[in-house]
Amino acid sequence: LGEVARRSRDGEGEPAENICNVLNRKDLKKIENGGTMPKTKTNDPGAHHASSGALIRRFLPYLANYKMVLCLDLFCAALTTLCDIVLPKIMSTITNAAMGVGITLTAGIVLRLAAVYFVLRIIDGAAQYFMSGIGHIMGVHIETDMRRDAFDHLLKLDHTYYNNTKVGTIMGRITNDLFDVTEFAHHCPEEFFIAAIKIVVSFVILCRASVPLTLAVFACVPLMGVVSVYLNGRLRARFRQQRVQIGELNSTIEDSLLGQGVVKAFAAENEEREKFAKGNREFEEIKTLGYYAMGAFNTSTRLFDGLMYLVVILAGGLSLVNGKITAGDLVAYMLYVTTLIATIRRIVEFAEQFQRGMTGIERFAEIMDTPVTIGDAPDAVPLQSGPGDIRFENVSFEYPDDHNKVLHDVSLDIRAGERLALVGASGGGKTTLCNLIPRFYEVTSGRILIDGQDIRRVTLKSLRQDIGIVQQDVFLFADTVRENIRYGRPDASDAEVEAAARAARCDHFIHTLAGGYDFMINEEGTNLSQGQRQLVTIARAILADRPALILDEATSNVDTRTEELIQRAMDALMQGRTSFVIAHRLSTVRNADCIVVLEQGRIIERGSHDELIAKKGKYYQLYTGNLAEN
Ligand code: ADP
Ligand code: MG
Repeated sequence: LGEVARRSRDGEGEPAENICNVLNRKDLKKIENGGTMPKTKTNDPGAHHASSGALIRRFLPYLANYKMVLCLDLFCAALTTLCDIVLPKIMSTITNAAMGVGITLTAGIVLRLAAVYFVLRIIDGAAQYFMSGIGHIMGVHIETDMRRDAFDHLLKLDHTYYNNTKVGTIMGRITNDLFDVTEFAHHCPEEFFIAAIKIVVSFVILCRASVPLTLAVFACVPLMGVVSVYLNGRLRARFRQQRVQIGELNSTIEDSLLGQGVVKAFAAENEEREKFAKGNREFEEIKTLGYYAMGAFNTSTRLFDGLMYLVVILAGGLSLVNGKITAGDLVAYMLYVTTLIATIRRIVEFAEQFQRGMTGIERFAEIMDTPVTIGDAPDAVPLQSGPGDIRFENVSFEYPDDHNKVLHDVSLDIRAGERLALVGASGGGKTTLCNLIPRFYEVTSGRILIDGQDIRRVTLKSLRQDIGIVQQDVFLFADTVRENIRYGRPDASDAEVEAAARAARCDHFIHTLAGGYDFMINEEGTNLSQGQRQLVTIARAILADRPALILDEATSNVDTRTEELIQRAMDALMQGRTSFVIAHRLSTVRNADCIVVLEQGRIIERGSHDELIAKKGKYYQLYTGNLAEN
């Protein structure tokens, strides 16, 4: 009888539950630079739960792309049920024949039945092979499609999303959570299909022997279903909690590891350990509760197995005594019940995988449902390339998440080719102001015009292609120096890359690197000095050759020689371009056409260097008392 019980059809191990965390280089740099620690706020992934139906509807369009493969897969699934359905029939025929009911048993009959079974098993093997292969491959295709869409959507999301969502959490969603979807994608249709066939076919066959007995046996099935669904729901809730908690735990780990330098510097290992231990304990508790729920679930299924066998022994035995059924029928009942139990148990086992797949889809849906707040207006047109005048008209801005007003009624006018220097104490809003031009954030009120065109009315792509940006926290990809520069203009030739490097004055140091332009910059970019990193980003901006430029001067302390190189590289870069410079270097400021002093989000002074010095106001103070940081 044990033979009949279906085994778990594929032996794959459980997908790793851990959400990968990759150290975020940008955050790391922030810490290095003594900047702000990355925010620990995380979007709560368990904030709302969609119903299973809604999630499956979410998933169907992806499945629909593989309709034909799915049909083939289901056809194979149907073939694999043949043996399980036919075996009880064969056994009851042999038993009845042996008992002298109907035909008499001969070796010929046995051989013929064995031959039929043999052929069926061959078909079963082949179908099994195809189902495992095709099914999984279809799952992988679907997973890949979903990951592609999720990544596409992530590229559209703005700074506010990334400020508030941990990179590790996002990564977990588009890798691990989607692995579970692969399993789900084919097992879900297969399992339900197989179960349906077995239940319906065995019901029909058994009814032909005895309707009351069949009804008695099948009466257990809905009961089993209801209890399982209930206990399963509990299990699912626990499982979801686990997912949320592991995300939290990962965030804690990420933070501690990213901040290793700071942790060590402040000898704060104990604090970190306690912080971690708390999260770790919570995870333990949640898992423990999960296993209690699992225990209840498993026990209930076993109790129902027992109940069904009991029905067969009692009702079947009595029917046999009363001559309502034959001995062969009883054998068939026994075998079908075993098949049914195995099928239901398989579904129950599958429930966990099903939950995981659902969680994966839910997580996926959460990414896809994150609204794109900064995108092209429906009537957006490409930015008309003009001379490059930039105008701020009464611009006010507050960050969407904390509604802290950072810019107040800022009006600025910078003519094509001019250089505007923004100065002022740290936190004054300089970086924020520059971030508004490429629409990293949307102005709260007022408007920004480039050559008379409101930046909200033009396409994002054309807008950003018009502006070159050198950010304060320099970011280089883990690739060669050449490719990092080429990022400015992907179709540039090697000669153009090298010309840009020469213009940025980094040609010299690149030649001293092992491999020159093919030198690999490491993950954290730490195998270049800060000054060198800046030069590379300037080369990248020179190559990009955009009409307008935003330069957030890094404040790092570099030696005077490097500083001079950077200065000359920046001058080369700004030549003939409308430039916004957040200036820290006196020489940059002095050469500017217009200097704007920003304090607490308000422009308090503007004018040329000489005018402002003569005025003896804030600029004069800043200038004489060393330009403040940042
Ligand atoms: P600056 O570049 O002049 O030093 P910033 O523009 O970086 O100033 O910051 C201006 C103000 O905006 C600060 O008070 C800062 O705390 C706040 N701020 C900066 N970035 C964010 C953000 N992503 N979310 C919320 N507030 C921010
Ligand atoms: Mg700044």
